[in-house]
Amino acid sequence: MAGKVWFITGVSRGFGRMWALAALERGDKVAATARDTTTLTDLRERFGDAMLPLELDVTDRDGDFSCVAAAFAHFGRLDVVVNNAGYGQLGFIEELSEGEVRDQMEANFFGAVWITQAALPFMRKQRSGHIIQISSVAGLFTLGDAGLYCASKFALEGFSDALASEIEPFGIHVTLVEPGLFATDFAGSSAKRPDQMPHYARGHQESAAALADILGEPNDPEPTAAALLKVVDAPRPPRRVIFDSKMVPVIKNFYQHRIAVWEEWKDVT
Ligand code: NAP
Repeated sequence: MAGKVWFITGVSRGFGRMWALAALERGDKVAATARDTTTLTDLRERFGDAMLPLELDVTDRDGDFSCVAAAFAHFGRLDVVVNNAGYGQLGFIEELSEGEVRDQMEANFFGAVWITQAALPFMRKQRSGHIIQISSVAGLFTLGDAGLYCASKFALEGFSDALASEIEPFGIHVTLVEPGLFATDFAGSSAKRPDQMPHYARGHQESAAALADILGEPNDPEPTAAALLKVVDAPRPPRRVIFDSKMVPVIKNFYQHRIAVWEEWKDVT
């Protein structure tokens, strides 16, 4: 179904930009947020009033609420909210500063909570809507050297899963999108890394090898746009969807191992 109104965070580049473009190209309307709105100028020039540029750092709670309200005021409805803005804070847990830990949760978890809370009153009144939370395969299993990033996506998964049951009676859907590794700026200029502690030198080498082995070569992000459109157009969208088919056996293996350990320890349980 065409003619949807979207609110997408982090449209300056990467997935957010691709998905905003795909929605606009098929005739949908998009409220697009970016920390630097000059990154949105070309989209605004090309799509005019169908595209509303909004300046937003998602860690700014007041800004989150006012941008969602501005999008509703401009378009008169809100069909799809995509909590996409985020980044990967790498590093072993002991290496991370308080600021790095808090900043990661502010962007990847709290930002999504505030945007979701801001959108719900409009969607409840409409009795329709779809909240898309951009999680990660790192919201399903953990990777050494990415523990904090995993924690932020596990937190996103936890609140979104519970939320889905709460808002189903109002006709509002929640989908957690769980991508594997894609060639956006995510693992490049966007990734943050603390100073490494010498004690973990070997651990870092092993984690890097494990990460490369598990995640494989970065995927081309382009096909994710068509996949996302399929999800938002589904009459009964999934609660979770993985983007990257080679991740499915890895995730199944992770859960099978978890169940096997519970079985092994059932006497103690
Ligand atoms: P990207 O190319 O680095 O883009 C990240 C986007 O998030 C940029 O628009 C960035 O804005 C924005 N952003 C980061 N922190 C923000 C903040 N505090 N406030 C507002 N915007 C902020 O990476 P991407 O792959 O498109 O990442 C998008 C989402 O996909 C993230 O949530 C990421 O965790 C998730 N994801 C990515 C992968 C992957 O392999 N690519 C895999 C799994 C999940 P600036 O331009 O201002 O920095």
